[in-house]
This record gives sequence, C-alpha cells and structure tokens, in this order.
Amino acid sequence: MRLAIKKLDVLRIAGQNVELVIDQSTISGWTKFYPLPKDMLPGVTQKNTACAHCEIPINGAYTRMSIGKVCDPCRRDYMEGKWS
Ligand SMILES: [Zn+2]
Repeated sequence: MRLAIKKLDVLRIAGQNVELVIDQSTISGWTKFYPLPKDMLPGVTQKNTACAHCEIPINGAYTRMSIGKVCDPCRRDYMEGKWS
C-alpha cells in the first residue's frame, strides 16, 4: 500500500487529478493506480462518470460507495436492500 501511495504522489506531481486516479482504480477494480487517459486530464471537459452499479452516466446526484460512484436511484435501491 505504501508503494501505491508513492505512485499517487508521482501522479500528483505529474499534474494528474489524484481523486480521479483513485476513482478510476476503484471503479475498475484495480489494485494499482494508473495515470488517467488524456480526456480525463484537468482542463478537458470530463465525460459524465458512469454509475458503478447500473453503468448509466450520472447526471445528477451521486454517492461515493465502495464500488465507486453510484447514482441516486441505485443508492436508494441499495438502501432498500434491492441489490443482489
Ligand atoms: Zn445507477
């Protein structure tokens, strides 16, 4: 884990948005951090992040959960125990 944090530092110094780097790895289920693709670098319009549960791009509110960003309808389902 210490190595992963060091990698994050390197990415931060390289101008990467570390929060998005973490999101990318979380959503993809990776155990390591990788630089963001060019279209996710700061200054470029970011595509809507897809919900980590239903995979539909999130336009409104979302909640950060262990699997990644989850849209509000999915979060509501989760709270009601509807996730399998
Ligand atoms: Zn969803």
